[in-house]
Parts: sequence; structure tokens; C-alpha cells
Amino acid sequence: MGEWADVSSRWKSLKMQIVRKLHRCPFCAYSSVYQNNLTKHVRTHTGEKPFVCALCPFRTSQNSSLKRHMINIHGQVEDVPAQEGFPEFTLHP
Ligand SMILES: [Zn+2]
Ligand SMILES: [Zn+2]
Repeated sequence: MGEWADVSSRWKSLKMQIVRKLHRCPFCAYSSVYQNNLTKHVRTHTGEKPFVCALCPFRTSQNSSLKRHMINIHGQVEDVPAQEGFPEFTLHP
């Protein structure tokens, strides 16, 4: 009986350690273990647009949007051939 309580309290403190490692959004409840994901997410609040088209003044906050722009506006396809029903690049939600 006592052992079980011990295990569960140990698990709780382990969970607390994991929670502390999360990168938290200062604007909403979003959190991620990956700094990259948080940086990308925070841009949705700040409106920062670091991805710039080399061919026109288009700017976007998402790498995937720039890729889509290159295909739709300039007809440039990067590594993945555009096919109907093909999953759109590698999007990390
Ligand atoms: Zn947020
Ligand atoms: Zn462009």
C-alpha cells in the first residue's frame, strides 16, 4: 500500500520536472517542449514575418506559407512535386 503512494508521488514530481521544461507562450496558454515551436507560435501574436520572398516584396511568418507563395505566385516547386492529393509538404502543427 505504502509503496504505491511512494510511486505515485515520485511520478508527480517527475511530471513537475517535465512541465518546468516546457516553453510557455507569454500571450496565451500555449506551451511546447520545443523552443522552435514556441518561437513560431509567438509570431502569430507579434505578427513578426521573417520569411521574405526573394522575387517580390511578399513577407510571411510561416516557412510553409512562403513555399506555397513560391508555387502559387512564381510557379517554383521546391523538392516535392505538386500532385493532387499529395500531403502539403511537412507541416508541423
Ligand atoms: Zn500564444
Ligand atoms: Zn514572391
